[in-house]
Amino acid sequence: MAVTDSRRRIEVDRHAFLEYQISCPYCGAKVGPRAVTREHLDVPPNPPYAATVKCPKCGEIFEVLFRS
Ligand SMILES: [Zn+2]
Repeated sequence: MAVTDSRRRIEVDRHAFLEYQISCPYCGAKVGPRAVTREHLDVPPNPPYAATVKCPKCGEIFEVLFRS
């Protein structure tokens, strides 16, 4: 079985993300819309449901799931 790094997928408040209040789980840098590399529409309920983010500081790539 593959080991999943739980930091690869974080659940965030959508508004907080848009306001750059979310920290990268790897280095703590603030990330927001400018760090998005891809938006996902396949996780309900409201688009965009999730996004792939590449941290501008450490380069780690992870998913953010919008809970609202
Ligand atoms: Zn980072």
